[in-house]
Amino acid sequence: MNTDAPPSGYHFGYKTLMLALFPGGRPPQWRDQAACRGTDPETFTLVQHMGRAKELCSICPVLAACRADQLAWEQGRAPSRDRPIGVVGGMTGPERRAVHYPPAPSPAAPAVLSGMGVA
Ligand code: SF4
Repeated sequence: MNTDAPPSGYHFGYKTLMLALFPGGRPPQWRDQAACRGTDPETFTLVQHMGRAKELCSICPVLAACRADQLAWEQGRAPSRDRPIGVVGGMTGPERRAVHYPPAPSPAAPAVLSGMGVA
């Protein structure tokens, strides 16, 4: 079997896309076990399907690997890091953006904690 051949049904630019996205031009092996295999991509990109996408991710056996790879991929690309879209690895775009850009601690927090006898 020729493993360099695109899966049937993929368009002409598949190999170029894979080379651009993945080291060695091959998707990671964990994708073979993804719960979203064969699912319409619109399930993960359209807001009205977000609940269904999150349901699929919640039962996915490769959730951790998918999420880690996505966050690492976005981290290296400013446009994707700044405006991540769709549900990937069980997280919406805004949820992933919050990981890339965690909110600064509130200046009031130390005072509040101090008043509670914590700090
Ligand atoms: S975690 Fe979600 S997006 Fe990632 S492979 Fe699984 S079902 Fe697909």
